Amino acid sequence: MEMALHRAFIFLGPPGAGKGTQSMRFAERRAVPHLSTGDMLRDAVSRGTELGRLAKPIMERGDLVPDEVVVKMIEERLDGSDCAAGVVFDGFPRTLPQAVQLGRVLEEKGFGKPVVVDLEVGPEVLMRRLTGRRTCSVCGEIYNVYDAPPRVPDVCDRDGGKLVQRADDRPEVVQERLAAYEHQTRPLTEYYRRLGVLLTVDASSGVEEVRRALDDTLERAEGRDGRL
Ligand SMILES: [Zn+2]
Repeated sequence: MEMALHRAFIFLGPPGAGKGTQSMRFAERRAVPHLSTGDMLRDAVSRGTELGRLAKPIMERGDLVPDEVVVKMIEERLDGSDCAAGVVFDGFPRTLPQAVQLGRVLEEKGFGKPVVVDLEVGPEVLMRRLTGRRTCSVCGEIYNVYDAPPRVPDVCDRDGGKLVQRADDRPEVVQERLAAYEHQTRPLTEYYRRLGVLLTVDASSGVEEVRRALDDTLERAEGRDGRL
């Protein structure tokens, strides 16, 4: 079935769901830009654009850049000729007001309703993925003590570097991150479900399997009338 052009895909999922990896690979397969608002902001700051100069002091203080600024940035980005065939959003929207604003912008820019992919993973699997993660202090290689352990505990296979746990991945911090997601972002799935644009994908298995499940789900949805 022919894929409708000019479509926006939004990826939702808790920390540890593999949202970054899956959305990036999906954008590659569809040959459309992958829009991570975090990356876009850092890029705007480093290039010293008007928005970048506005966002810089806010980011340096460790504060969240206001929604209006981020939405403005997205609006400008969507005018890029490379967005004509569609775009993939990663990490935005995170809140209901952001979703409403993004919906308005997409409508204005002729994208119509987005297609929203919700990567679902149970809390036990997320805890394992996040609290099990260890990073080599020398080369940055990532391991998981449960799913992808090094040959020798706490030692990098490649260079013998010591493996460390990021502060973000300590169990108590992971609990907080997951709770914040439930509180702030979970209402989005309900919002998009009611709009009839939510596709749920089981993301509890490995990267390759999730990729297949994602493609199958989209194919089935697009197959009905090519419009979802
Ligand atoms: Zn290493």
